[in-house]
Amino acid sequence: MRLILLGPPGAGKGTQAQRLVEKHGIVQLSTGDMLRAAVSAGTPIGLKAKDIMARGDLVPDEVAVGIVSDRIAEPDAKNGFILDGFPRTVPQAEALDRMLAAKGLELDAVVELKVDEQALLDRIATRIAQMRSRGEKIRPDDNPESLKTRLHAYRVQTAPLLDHYGKKGLVRSVDGMAPIAAVAAAIDRALEARMAAGGG
Ligand code: ADP
Repeated sequence: MRLILLGPPGAGKGTQAQRLVEKHGIVQLSTGDMLRAAVSAGTPIGLKAKDIMARGDLVPDEVAVGIVSDRIAEPDAKNGFILDGFPRTVPQAEALDRMLAAKGLELDAVVELKVDEQALLDRIATRIAQMRSRGEKIRPDDNPESLKTRLHAYRVQTAPLLDHYGKKGLVRSVDGMAPIAAVAAAIDRALEARMAAGGG
């Protein structure tokens, strides 16, 4: 199974991706995690991405496309994957379309987590407060200014993907405001219907 999880920051993509990984035995490819690892390791990509990410802006398309194309070529992605945080722009989606076509692969679904923006801000504020009280490290882009930039980037650069994939009949929208287990159940129902309808 090859899926994309789409939704603004704080929509719960990471939580749902982890569960789907366990359920379907596929890998989660999170460009945010990969970029944060590159920043921590101080690689050339990390050095380039560090300030851009802290501001909440998107890294250049070729950087994101490069890390994904290397990653989906690895053996553990053979069974399938969930893309979490990629693609984030129409050019990235077009690059992914070409990457998959070259391998003779197809996407099964694009799951949209629909959420209310004010609720997102509240959710993220809660998450930050909890992490702080546990003494955990806060992401440099988890501050009100960068968060606004991240939400803006989603609205302007990423939301158009709903149209790109909608035209291909791949989008399944789920209410991301429901409790975690209810979101999970709604995703499962959407995917079952999709696979029964002839997806891979
Ligand atoms: P969130 O969904 O919480 O905003 P992510 O962990 O997915 O966070 O991404 C964090 C940051 O990493 C983004 O704000 C952006 O700077 C960078 N990033 C991640 N994925 C991409 C991508 N596909 N294209 C461009 N930038 C990306």
